[in-house]
Amino acid sequence: MLRLYNTLTHKIEEFQPLNPPNVGYYSCGPTVYDFAHIGHARTYIFADVLQRVLEFNGYKVKRVMNITDVGHLTSDSDSGEDKMEKGAKREGKTVWEIAKFYTDDFFLMLDKLNIKRPEIICKATDYIKEMIDLIKKLEEKDYTYKLADGIYFDTSKLPDYGKLTGQTFEKLQKTLKAGARVDVVEGKKYPTDFAMWKFTPPDVKRQMEWDSPYGRGFPGWHIECSAMAMKHLGDTIDIHTGGVDHVPIHHTNEIAQSEAATGKPFVKYWLHADHLLVDGAKMSKSLGNYYRVKDLEEKGFSPLALRYLYLTANYRTQLNFTWESMKAAQTAYDSLKSQISDLLPRRQAGKSQIAERSALSEEKLDKINKFRDEFTQAINDDLNTAQGLSVVWKVVKSNIPSEDKYDLLLLFDEVLGLDLKNIELRVKNQELRIPEEINKLVKKREEYRRQGNFKESDRVREVIAEKGYSVQDTPGGPIIISNIFIKKLIDSQGNSD
Ligand code: AMP
Ligand code: ZN
Repeated sequence: MLRLYNTLTHKIEEFQPLNPPNVGYYSCGPTVYDFAHIGHARTYIFADVLQRVLEFNGYKVKRVMNITDVGHLTSDSDSGEDKMEKGAKREGKTVWEIAKFYTDDFFLMLDKLNIKRPEIICKATDYIKEMIDLIKKLEEKDYTYKLADGIYFDTSKLPDYGKLTGQTFEKLQKTLKAGARVDVVEGKKYPTDFAMWKFTPPDVKRQMEWDSPYGRGFPGWHIECSAMAMKHLGDTIDIHTGGVDHVPIHHTNEIAQSEAATGKPFVKYWLHADHLLVDGAKMSKSLGNYYRVKDLEEKGFSPLALRYLYLTANYRTQLNFTWESMKAAQTAYDSLKSQISDLLPRRQAGKSQIAERSALSEEKLDKINKFRDEFTQAINDDLNTAQGLSVVWKVVKSNIPSEDKYDLLLLFDEVLGLDLKNIELRVKNQELRIPEEINKLVKKREEYRRQGNFKESDRVREVIAEKGYSVQDTPGGPIIISNIFIKKLIDSQGNSD
C-alpha cells in the first residue's frame, strides 16, 4: 500500500488514483530565464522518485511538466518585470533565445541526475489559446474583473479559496497585506486576487505579447499550469507536485482558476518538496547563492552522488547543503558502486536465483523476500528513500548469494535511480570496458525486444556472442560482459560466494 503526504488534507493518506492503474501526474517545471541549480535539482529528483515509486507499484503514469517561458513576474503580487524579458535584457538576446538556452541547460541537468523525462513537456507560449479560453470561461462565470493593467480573478467568489494553505480567507488577506511591498497593484479588490492576463504597458515594447479579447498582452504565471494540466490530464488529476514555495500563491491560484472553471476538484494529491538551503537561506537565483551541477563536477563530484545525498534526506524537510555532506555522499556512492562492481562478475558467471527459488535454502529465500518487502515498505511510506538506502546497505552486507544481491540492488535502483548497473569492471585492477560497437548492438537488441520482435533480438544476441560477449537480462536492464572477462575472473577468484 502506497501512502503519501497530501498537502491538501495535511495528512498522510493511502494513494488511490481515480482510474487505476492509470495515474495523471503534473509537475510544475522551471522558469527558463537563468541556470538551473542544485536547489531545483532537489525538487525534480523528488518528483522523479515519486514517478519511479508509482511505476514500481505497477501504476501507469502519464506525467506532464511545463516550461515557463513567459509571464512569471519578479514579484508574486502581479507587479514587477517578467523574469524572461529581464533575463533577455541582461544578456542582450531575444527572449526566445534565452528560453531555448536555459531549457537545454535544465534538461542537461536532468540527464546528469538520471531524472526520467516526463512523457509530455509543454512550453507556456504554445498554449496561449488554451489560456485565453480558460479566462473566457471564468469571465462567463463572473469570476473576473478588469483593472488598468490586466484581467484579475476575484478570489472572494470562491468559498474555499486558499484551502491548500490551511488558512482562512481572512487570515490570507492579512498575511499577504503584511508581506506586501510598495509595489501593490492599484484597484485589486482583495490582496489574494491575481492576474490571469496582463496588458502590455503603453510605454513598453515587449518581445512576447499576444492579442486577446481583453487587449494585447501576456498570460499570468498561474493560468498556464491550469490550462496545460487540464488539457493533457483532464479536469481532475491524481497528483501535482512542486516546491513548497508554490503552496500559498501559485498552487493556491491554480486550484482557484481550475475549480472555478470546472466546478470539480482539480487535484486529488498535492505533494511538495521542501527547500535546499545554503547557510540557512533558500538557494535561489535571485539571491545569487547557488551552485550548479557543473560546479560540483568541476570540484570532482559526480552528479549522482548529489542524487545519493538527496535520497538520504526526507523530501519534506529542509536540507542544508554543505561540502562536507557532499563529500560524505560521494564516498558512500563510490563505495556502493564498487560493491556492485564486485558483484557483477559473479552475477554474470552464476545465475540469479530470485527467479529460481527452489534452488535456494528456505533461509536465504526468506531473507531475499524480507529485503524486498522492507525496501517496498520504506519507499511506500511517503517515499522514505533514506530507509530504502539503509535496506540497500543491509543487502550489500548480507550473506545472500551474490547473484541475488546484484539483482535486488538493481531492482531497488529502479526507484533510487543511482544508475548502479552502469559500472566499470575490474579484474586485478585491470579495467575492461565494453566496446561501443557492442553497446550499440545491445541497444538494438533492446529495441527489437521492446517491439516484440524476438526473432531479430535473438539474431543480434548471436552476433554479440560471436564477438565474444554475452548479454543477460536483469530487472534493471541488460548486462553485458566479455567472455574473456568471465574466464579471467573464474581463473583468478573462482566462482564461490
Ligand atoms: P522556478 O524556476 O523558480 O519556478 O523553480 C522551479 C522549481 O524548483 C519550483 O518547484 C521551485 O519550488 C523549485 N526550487 C527553486 N529553488 C529551490 C530550492 N532552493 N530548493 C528546492 N526547490 C527549489
Ligand atoms: Zn505551475
